[in-house]
Amino acid sequence: MHVLISGASVAGPVLAYWLRRNGHRVSVVERTSELRVGDGGQAVDILGPAVEVIDRMGLLPQVRAARTTTDTMTLIRPGRADVTIDAAQLLAGVSDRHVEIMRGDLAEILYEATRKHVAYTFGTTIQELREHDGGVDATFSDGTKGTFDLVVGADGLHSGVRRLVFGPEEDYSHFLGGYLAVFSVPDFIGLDGQVLGYNTVDRAVALYPTRTPGRTRVVILFRAPQPDNRAPQADNRAPQADRRDPRPDNREQQADHRDPAAQRRLLREVCAGLGWEVPRLLEHLDAADDFYLDGISQIRLPSWSRGRVTLAGDAGYGPGPAVGGGSSLAVVGAYVLASELAAAGDDHAVAFPAYERAMADAVAASRTVGPSVLATLIPRSELQVWTMAQAMRLLPRLPGFLQRRLTSFGGGPAAMLNGVDLRPPVAPATL
Ligand SMILES: Cc1cc2nc3c(=O)[nH]c(=O)nc-3n(C[C@H](O)[C@H](O)[C@H](O)COP(=O)(O)OP(=O)(O)OC[C@H]3O[C@@H](n4cnc5c(N)ncnc54)[C@H](O)[C@@H]3O)c2cc1C
Repeated sequence: MHVLISGASVAGPVLAYWLRRNGHRVSVVERTSELRVGDGGQAVDILGPAVEVIDRMGLLPQVRAARTTTDTMTLIRPGRADVTIDAAQLLAGVSDRHVEIMRGDLAEILYEATRKHVAYTFGTTIQELREHDGGVDATFSDGTKGTFDLVVGADGLHSGVRRLVFGPEEDYSHFLGGYLAVFSVPDFIGLDGQVLGYNTVDRAVALYPTRTPGRTRVVILFRAPQPDNRAPQADNRAPQADRRDPRPDNREQQADHRDPAAQRRLLREVCAGLGWEVPRLLEHLDAADDFYLDGISQIRLPSWSRGRVTLAGDAGYGPGPAVGGGSSLAVVGAYVLASELAAAGDDHAVAFPAYERAMADAVAASRTVGPSVLATLIPRSELQVWTMAQAMRLLPRLPGFLQRRLTSFGGGPAAMLNGVDLRPPVAPATL
């Protein structure tokens, strides 16, 4: 088969790898003009079964070598003693198989492992998809066209393929009540392997070191109402007759979220009155060239396959940025999709429902985990701010099993993947 994948981040290259290894031809289109590599973006977690998939790709040593190195986590409490904890202790409960890595570093490793065998085209998006008995005709933003046996949208929360095939994003995007802002500043604090957290009611600020010396990443999570009037997701939309993208530049539909000046204003308003180093961090906001702000939303589709098109990763079942588990779901989902196709003798009509069934429990669990993690990350009251500090103080003194229980957010992102059955690979261990 010739498979077209949209998106070259996590799900896209993992899927490309396994499809290629199972003997298919793979083309990937990516909207950005080049791979977003290095320490740009955010730290993500590779957990349990996702570590197993990376291991089966032979990439675990590289992924481990690129992992983030955090020694301690400190909760800053103005007017009170800081609480510091060993990061290894805090993460012990997440999973016994766990690697934290910058998304850009992971994407680079996955791209390097596949680029000789997969046709990557950067700076290009799919503008139109038309399915017929023999395949799917795709028209690209550079004016070229092609016919493919299958098309997979691995193009993230604001997926273009999903919009073309399933309809507008607001039908499937479920706002969890919080926002996430990320930007880099000069390391005027001197983090040196520490992660610093500063929590107040409805706002949480974290600083962590990047791999670029002298740079610090600022993450600000805050609770705020949704600015636009998004409809709740409709579960059973009729298939779109015309799968042509209505917007000529095929960019995300979020004018409000894509207006950096308005986003910066919103962040300043939300952070007004915050103490500690926050005013100083915000002085660098205008100069930050990697500023990102988005609503924390989940993608909830009752089914994420239609005809010869399916979705993988955040595009189909993103649990929400920053709530954990999204990258692992992307890795595992891509693997499961490729292995169900192999098991079905490449019959997508059998494989796509099997892929959805295999992922169903993990996806359902991720929809519950997201809101509960968010409720922990952004305190709702002074009492919760206090409780979190007390829990951090107590943690090192508790027995190991209780530490693991407390730091796993009630079974959280690691546990949600436990039920996924990873079929053994069908092809030899190289591309
Ligand atoms: C700030 C932040 C913090 C996060 N923290 C965590 C965490 O702690 N743990 C965790 O597991 N996960 C975390 N996540 C989520 C994690 O990054 C995603 O779940 C994961 O990257 C999903 O991978 P993906 O390949 O499905 O999608 P993405 O990584 O979003 O990649 C989608 C790709 O598609 C491309 N694309 C977009 N639109 C188009 C288009 N129309 N045509 C072609 N290409 C397109 C994009 O440029 C991108 O390269 C976080 C996310 C953010 C934003």
